[in-house]
Amino acid sequence: MNTVLIFAIFAVTTATLVAALVYYAAYGIRSQLFGQTVWRGRTDTNAVALTFDDGPGKDTPALLDVLRKHNVKATFFLIGSRVEQFPRIAQRIVAEGHEIGNHSFSHRIFLYCSRRRTEFEMNKAQEIITSTTKIAPRIARPPCGVRTLSYFNATRKLRLKTVQWTTAGFDWKKCTADDIARAVVGDATAGSIILLHDGDSEGKASRKATVDSIPLILAALREKNLEIVSLRKLLSPPETKEEKGELLHQISLGST
Ligand SMILES: [Zn+2]
Repeated sequence: MNTVLIFAIFAVTTATLVAALVYYAAYGIRSQLFGQTVWRGRTDTNAVALTFDDGPGKDTPALLDVLRKHNVKATFFLIGSRVEQFPRIAQRIVAEGHEIGNHSFSHRIFLYCSRRRTEFEMNKAQEIITSTTKIAPRIARPPCGVRTLSYFNATRKLRLKTVQWTTAGFDWKKCTADDIARAVVGDATAGSIILLHDGDSEGKASRKATVDSIPLILAALREKNLEIVSLRKLLSPPETKEEKGELLHQISLGST
């Protein structure tokens, strides 16, 4: 084998490995290579959290009705341009006690965006969400979960914690409420952050099946002895033994 051929094979192999590594770092849900990424909550309680991406959208009010009926609090990762389109729905999400996060301005995949565009996407969404809802998000989830160094640079400046997910309902594919519930509940364990969608990044697909899946998901989670808590609670650090003791002490004092 001549030297040129050996060099060519070496170069192609190296380039492939580097490309695979960058792809994993950006697309890997649990990858920590480009920056700190939360993908699961505390596992010492029987709790899980529901999260909804890509809204607000035309199906969000129906979803909010179902969540209210079952007294469940969720987290909504909002798209800035959709908040501009549906400001009242974004305000209703907050008014009904749900948490909100930044899901970019126009749902671009950051691996193919310039540093400037990435900053614009995160900053603009933060600005619109904050001025519309009067709440400044403290958490972010990038479109399709794709993170880059520029994304982490932007979120660091905005002091946003990145929260991915543990289990998905795959409701962006064509599916029924049953399919979504089965996908979510089959994989859910203590600490799971569940990914669903109340909107569509292109504003086309209906999320009716997702709305219809909620009562099925709630019933099946109950069967598995899992309760739904807010993301904030799921991500809070476990109490220390001293704190638990203190709390018991306070409860016992209060009950006497
Ligand atoms: Zn999305």
